[in-house]
Amino acid sequence: MNKIAIYPGSFDPLTMGHVNIIERGLHVFDEVIVAIAHNTSKKTVFTEEERLEHLHLVFSANPRVKIDRFEGLLVDYARKTGAGSVLRGIRTVSDYEYEFQMALANKRLYPDMETIFMMTDGAYSYLSSTIIKEIIRFGGSAEGMVPPAIADLLKRKLAGV
Ligand code: ADP
Repeated sequence: MNKIAIYPGSFDPLTMGHVNIIERGLHVFDEVIVAIAHNTSKKTVFTEEERLEHLHLVFSANPRVKIDRFEGLLVDYARKTGAGSVLRGIRTVSDYEYEFQMALANKRLYPDMETIFMMTDGAYSYLSSTIIKEIIRFGGSAEGMVPPAIADLLKRKLAGV
């Protein structure tokens, strides 16, 4: 049986912290579906299409990484794709509180689905999409924080060009 995990998120933008979780996820699962969660109430810098494009740029050469988007409940998407697990990353205690709540809610909705947590790599523990956007907005360098293919796109987007 194929072990498939969904790695859901906003990925606005995709960071090296995300990439690290996906790569390590591939050591545990046969396939990782990186799925952009459609969220109308969350204001994003990149459109959903742009974020899909970024994921393709970084992972298109890896046949074990699938790129997708979904609307509605994660458990419904998991049932549809046949994924038995959800992969999530944990950085801080505040991540833990939110993730714990989500995992328990999802367990209640779909008892056969497991949420698998991966601790952040020490090198990326401080990284979030939000902090990277702040750094670039104020003229700092995000080198090593986002995949090189995305760094320039992000700089241009935040500069409004
Ligand atoms: P969401 O809006 O669902 O939190 P994100 O794109 O911010 O989406 O994050 C997706 C997942 O990646 C979450 O589980 C988050 O905790 C995890 N994550 C984000 N940054 C890091 C990092 N630097 N190290 C480990 N996990 C991370």
